Amino acid sequence: MEGEGEGEGEGESEQRHNVVLFPFMAQGHMIPMLDIARMLADHRLAVTLVTTPLNAVRIRAAAWSPRVRVLEMEFPCAEVGLPKGCESFEDVPSYDLMSNFLRATEMLREPFEKLIRQEVENPLCIISDTFFWWTVETGKVFGIPRLVFHGTSCFSLCCLRCIREHKPHNNVGSDAEPFLLPGLPGELTFTRTQLPEFWKVNVELMASGFDRVFEVMRRADVQSYGTLVNSFNELEPEYVDHYKNMEGTKAWPIGPVSLCNRDQIDKAARGKKASVDKSACLRWLDTQKPESVVYVCFGSTHKLAPTQLTEIGLGLEASGLPFIWVVRGDTEQVDQWLPKGFEERVKGRGMVIKGWAPQILILSHPATGGFVTHCGWNSTLEGLTAGLPMVSWPLYAEQPLNARLVVDVLKVAVAIVDKETQGVVPKEAVERAVSEMMGNGEMRGRARELGEMARRAVEDGGSSHMNLTLFIQDMITYKKPHAM
Ligand code: UDP
Repeated sequence: MEGEGEGEGEGESEQRHNVVLFPFMAQGHMIPMLDIARMLADHRLAVTLVTTPLNAVRIRAAAWSPRVRVLEMEFPCAEVGLPKGCESFEDVPSYDLMSNFLRATEMLREPFEKLIRQEVENPLCIISDTFFWWTVETGKVFGIPRLVFHGTSCFSLCCLRCIREHKPHNNVGSDAEPFLLPGLPGELTFTRTQLPEFWKVNVELMASGFDRVFEVMRRADVQSYGTLVNSFNELEPEYVDHYKNMEGTKAWPIGPVSLCNRDQIDKAARGKKASVDKSACLRWLDTQKPESVVYVCFGSTHKLAPTQLTEIGLGLEASGLPFIWVVRGDTEQVDQWLPKGFEERVKGRGMVIKGWAPQILILSHPATGGFVTHCGWNSTLEGLTAGLPMVSWPLYAEQPLNARLVVDVLKVAVAIVDKETQGVVPKEAVERAVSEMMGNGEMRGRARELGEMARRAVEDGGSSHMNLTLFIQDMITYKKPHAM
């Protein structure tokens, strides 16, 4: 990657401005931040990535730029009652312990500041996850700006702020009565059941301590210098503008960040080590017809109930379509969960990846034709970037909002269930949604166009490329009068 500099601010870059990156320890947050590290390094900046020892091992195992340095600090598992080695949010063994994990992250302030003081020469700014709200104070200590990274779209950020501030769900008489999200472009209506559970202010949430964290995160977001967004202007122009106006802050959409992984090795090494041989996977895809394969994956964290897995398997089988299906868990567990005789019956037509898939490698292969996704923002944007129609199957967090964006605003996805449906999604619904996604030519056409736009955005002169350049210039300009 050395020598791939883009030319802007080259004189300045000689001074080795050092961007401090502090990703939240969860794959869905870490992966895009690592891409941002790579993008900044491509722009000739030095990058210091701060994380915990086990995460550092994973990061160093991936292909990496010599301009990116990884610094470690211990994660206080024992102090908050977490099991040893629980350094990633997805490793937290139960829901009750999640707030302990967040408490542990709050204890990182002192070691984080010590590391910067001792190890980072010429810090330019701190880009940190919204969960590290206290880094806004660290920025003040070092006289540098803190930039916040949320890891989701402007669309979802706008909806979430509106829901929290106006609580429009409190003005309706039943869960099925629709209400408008006031002030948002596009006149979006929701029902209570369509809101992300996580963000409803309810008793459970208050008790879990999350509500306090969300409140301090919000305050810190507003006090931050600005926001880096993994999105691109052309995807959600009204919501990018609305977000900037609403927050009264600077925001730079610089995505899709996954596109910085240009070759197959980088694509395959993203996140964790894949549980399948990359070449075998590509060889299998090479034997399939263009745009024929359905890719099914529900992100880095969520494990679906075995009853749901059975219905997915049978639905895919009944669709008659070729597929790659990623099932979280080790081989032994997954074998128990799959429908009886399933792999034998679909041999040659279907591939089950048990564990971690090289997702962007699969999505970008010409044989892949559609994506069944849980609508985590990274996956959603990766699907859009690959120009693929999708089936939206939101599970938790802000995923129902991302689903609304792709289904109702961009019109490139089929919603698998009626939003009111609860419980297990039957195999018939799986088969129906997958067939509709693969057969709807108009939707595929729109998805292709968005994929093209995404690629243009990160090319030289594209909106995201320009935003990244403007962001770096802004940081360097800020630095001059504040230089110590
Ligand atoms: N991912 C992957 N292989 C997998 C599962 C997930 O590479 O088997 C990557 C995926 O490409 C995405 C991230 O993990 O970048 C998941 O983030 P997302 O926001 O979609 O969902 P989350 O895991 O946070 O629910």
